[in-house]
This record gives sequence, structure tokens and C-alpha cells, in this order.
Amino acid sequence: MNNDTPKTDTPLAQEMKAVITANGPISVELYMALCLGHPRHGYYMTRDPLGLAGDFITAPEISQMFGELLGLWAADTWRHMGEPARVRLVELGPGRGTLMKDALRAARVLPAFHAAIDVHMVEMSPVLRRLQAETLADSGFSPAWHDAFAQVPAGPAIIIANEFFDCLPVRQYVRGREGWFERLVGLDAAGELTFGLANAPEPALTRAAPEGVLMEFPASHLIAMRQITERLVAQGGALLVLDYGHLSTGYGDTMQAVRDHGYTALLAEPGEADVTVHVDFAALAQAARMAGAAVHGPATQGEFLLRLGIRERAAMLQAHAAASTGGSAAHIDTALNRLIDMDTRGMGQLFKAMAVAHPALPLLPGFDRRHDP
Ligand code: SAH
Repeated sequence: MNNDTPKTDTPLAQEMKAVITANGPISVELYMALCLGHPRHGYYMTRDPLGLAGDFITAPEISQMFGELLGLWAADTWRHMGEPARVRLVELGPGRGTLMKDALRAARVLPAFHAAIDVHMVEMSPVLRRLQAETLADSGFSPAWHDAFAQVPAGPAIIIANEFFDCLPVRQYVRGREGWFERLVGLDAAGELTFGLANAPEPALTRAAPEGVLMEFPASHLIAMRQITERLVAQGGALLVLDYGHLSTGYGDTMQAVRDHGYTALLAEPGEADVTVHVDFAALAQAARMAGAAVHGPATQGEFLLRLGIRERAAMLQAHAAASTGGSAAHIDTALNRLIDMDTRGMGQLFKAMAVAHPALPLLPGFDRRHDP
């Protein structure tokens, strides 16, 4: 054993080592999927990772304004859809349920929309499902939970996915002299998890690139996008995706592991750290258009929230705070600035918003351009 680099032997690492010993290396895609979703040891299956005491924080946990504005976005979208008497309000990966709670409260401003909503939560984690149920206990709605999007009953739908796609695994390939070799996770001489490459190149990948370049192929993202789009085109509605990622497809490894608000080595503690990738919005947009939907945006999260009126919403909350407790006006300001921060590393810039909608819908709120299928 190599004692210089001690590895955390998590239960999931042990299980992976046994599988690799028996069957050979696993793909990076499977590694990521197991890290997050292994039924017993997966990161999301065993804990609530959100918030200050957790490993990372998300927009709806920063401020109620985020979920409220998305609730108003959904109300507007519903009007553009022709105000169907029933609409599925679907959230993919709802975390603690905070976004949905805030969205449903804001949706009361349009009583006909509020009355038309049927809440559906697509969530794989039993721990987070329980939290979501608690959060929504007083919402006046009885949500239905599903393991997968395909289980959401038919009908017009408005779907929201905040920091969901970044949890879907990607395949990775490295360019060698004779082609693209899939990146795998195997065992080193000491029996520890290590990255390696497939023995033979992938025959379907032929794109020229300099040797050593890494390419991510988001197969599960594209499958999910096609499935959602086909439904929206057939039954009506729109999907809103918010996530960190890039507007054009490029090369490079974007996979990262996060624990306790900081980065950690990818292979060090499988099941104990969040593993995510940057979302390739260009690839998602192309998949949606090929399946017959219009694409709205993408815009940066900062632009999107400003167009939805986050400044005005913040001013209202501040006036209210000043009138009642007087204490939280500065807090609202901090949250606003964090959500729309347009610095290169700021949330308002790093995160993008994009909608995918039935082609008959006009330009949806928050966006400045729409691309037909
Ligand atoms: N949207 C929330 C939580 C983001 S964390 C927020 O913004 O705060 C990612 C969420 O997606 C968690 O709820 C996680 O359990 C869920 N998730 C990740 N992969 C999933 C999958 N394949 N199927 C269903 N839910 C998934």
C-alpha cells in the first residue's frame, strides 16, 4: 500500500473496488452515477447536502426571491399556453422543496393559475423527498413524487430544473493518436481507485483534435432533454433549465467534487462528496430543437432575473422589512447581489437560464431571443 496518499475507504469505494476487481474498470459516467445515486451509498440518497451547514448552497436557498420569480414566470407561461384548466407544475431535483414552496406562494397572484396547478416532484433521494414533503406541508397542495420524469402523468406541463442537469453523468474521452479513448476508473497497483483509458478507441468518434485533449459527451443530458422535449411538443408546455455551464460546446474536463463548500479530489471519497459537471447549453439546445421545440435564450442568470424584475422584488421586500422588523434589508441586498453577480466567477454570470417550449409559444419572460426548431 502507498501510505503517502491515504484514501478514504468509503463503503461505496469498497463496493466499486470489488466490482472493478471482478469485471474490470468502469466508465467515468457510471462512476459519477454511482457516486450520486447508488441506492444505499449515493451522495444524494443518504443526506441533505444543501445550505450553510451542508456542502453547498443553491439559489433558492439564498433567497425566496428566486422561487417567487420562477413562480411568476410559470404563471406567465401558463397564460401563453392558453390557460389550460389543468397544468402539471413539475420540478426536477427539488432539493429541500424551497423553490417550489416560494413559487406556489407567488403563483397566488394569478388565482386561475394557482387553481390549475398539479404539483409533481421528480426526486430520487428518499431523504430529500421527506424534507420536500415537510417544506410543502402547508402549501395547500398534495404533491406527487416520481423516480423519473417519464412517470409524470400526461398533460400540459411547466417544468423547472434548477441545478438538476449538472447532476446527470457524462462520458469522457481522451484524444490519442488513433482516436478517442473512453476515460475509465480502475485500480492502481496498490488497489486504489485511479483514472485510466480504454484499450481501444471508440470507433464512432472521429473528430480531429490535438492529442491529449479531453472531451465530455453528455449522453444522459441529451436523452433527458429529448424525452422532455418530445412530451412538450406533443402535449404542450415549457421547460426552464437553470444551471452552471457554457454557452458553446468546448473541450476540457468539467467534472468536480465538492464537500463542505470546497473542492475535493474526484476519486477520494465516493459517496461522501457531490460530483457535478458543467452543463453544455449548446448541446441541450440542439437536442431540443432536433426534437421539435423552440429554444428561448440562453441568457445568463443575472440577465434573466433582472428581466423578471428581481430588483423591484428586492425593493418591495426591503420596504416591507423596514416597516416590520427593520433588520433584514441588508440581508436582502446581499442575496440580490449574489444571485445577479455578473463577475466572471459570480452566480449571475456562471449560471445560465434557458427555456425549451412548444413551438407555438411566444418569447417567454426573461429572454430576449427565441430559436425555432
Ligand atoms: N433544485 C434544488 C436542488 C439541487 S441539488 C436547489 O436548487 O436547491 C440536485 C437535486 O437533484 C437533488 O434534489 C437530488 O437528489 C436530485 N437529483 C439528482 N440526480 C437525480 C436524478 N437522476 N433523478 C432524480 N433526482 C435527481
